Amino acid sequence: MPNRRVSKPIYIGSVKVGGDAPITVQSMTKTDTRDISATVAQIKGLEEAGCEIIRSAVPDMEAAKALGEIKRQINIPLIADIHFHYQLALEAIRQGVDCLRLNPGNLRNVEQVTEVVRAAKEKSIPIRIGVNFGSLPPVGGIGKTRGFSRVFDMVNELPKATEAEEGQYSVVDHMVATALWEIGILEDMDFDLIKISLKAFDVPTTIEAYKRLATMVPYPLHLGITEAGTVQSGSIRTAVGLGYLLYEGIGDTIRVSLSGDSKDEVTAGFEILKSLNLRNKGVTLVACPSCGRADVDVIRLANEIDDLVSAIDSTIKVAVMGCEVNGPGEAKDADVGIAAGAGRAIIFRKGQKSRIVPESEMLSALMEEVRVVSEENQSLTNVQ
Ligand code: SF4
Repeated sequence: MPNRRVSKPIYIGSVKVGGDAPITVQSMTKTDTRDISATVAQIKGLEEAGCEIIRSAVPDMEAAKALGEIKRQINIPLIADIHFHYQLALEAIRQGVDCLRLNPGNLRNVEQVTEVVRAAKEKSIPIRIGVNFGSLPPVGGIGKTRGFSRVFDMVNELPKATEAEEGQYSVVDHMVATALWEIGILEDMDFDLIKISLKAFDVPTTIEAYKRLATMVPYPLHLGITEAGTVQSGSIRTAVGLGYLLYEGIGDTIRVSLSGDSKDEVTAGFEILKSLNLRNKGVTLVACPSCGRADVDVIRLANEIDDLVSAIDSTIKVAVMGCEVNGPGEAKDADVGIAAGAGRAIIFRKGQKSRIVPESEMLSALMEEVRVVSEENQSLTNVQ
């Protein structure tokens, strides 16, 4: 796996992003930000799921004014998501948020951006420049607020990454140019607490945009595939795009954008990172897909175990295998593994055969072993 891209670390509240910091998983609230108790409740649930940074939309001044109280009641850094109105960004800063997300496609007035940067600089609040395909400025209109119609912005006429011919101005060029325009404003003010995202729904476009910008600037990158879809299709789409980038060493924090529960975004985020051995968190489940050789109902067993282990915090690998073909090998390689045979199963713990149990006791026996290993891991962590 290539080395991780070197980026200049910043702090979102107490969470380090970039440099040698672990790649963080973030999400966004789906409540009305003006409803403080609902928003706080959702963030608390996300904290429990492992979310490390949270972002909330700020559509109006009432939402902006709610941010301070929300922040007081939560334990993870809070990012204010701002579009269109720079006054909302100024109010979010006054409310003490840990970071701003500004969209250069929707906040294109240089004087207004400058005012926000000045206020952020005074309080050392980082800014994410969040470029999004759906709200790119008109072609030829980066940084311009007059004389360009949003309806005929020509963005949708631009060729995507896979369609562009050599030398042709593409969506990727436009996304990168949009980011560089706003980066330039911030750098001209000696402001370098910058984080950048370049999201599109089209995976090759997103990959190319990040790859291009990654070589041009030193700032940490927030990765995401925008409007990725429902929990299943969106998780897969995001895993393809982010998986490629992360494998190439690109990316410092991620958000999986799903039309679903934000907790699913967090789960999917960690699964993507775990797949590349970039983070270890909770239980990693190895489960065979089952086939005509399966001696037990491995699908039901795997799903029951998946539910039962979801609350376990310690890092542990559990294998559920349906027969003797690959079963013992995978089961031995895990912290706890089960290899089923006709009407019974062998349970392995840390590579050693632990016991043989009848099919009816497989689930309870496996969970007992998981708890034992989990407690051992926990006490080891406490000693270290
Ligand atoms: Fe089939 Fe056995 Fe492989 Fe599971 S482990 S998919 S049951 S061959």
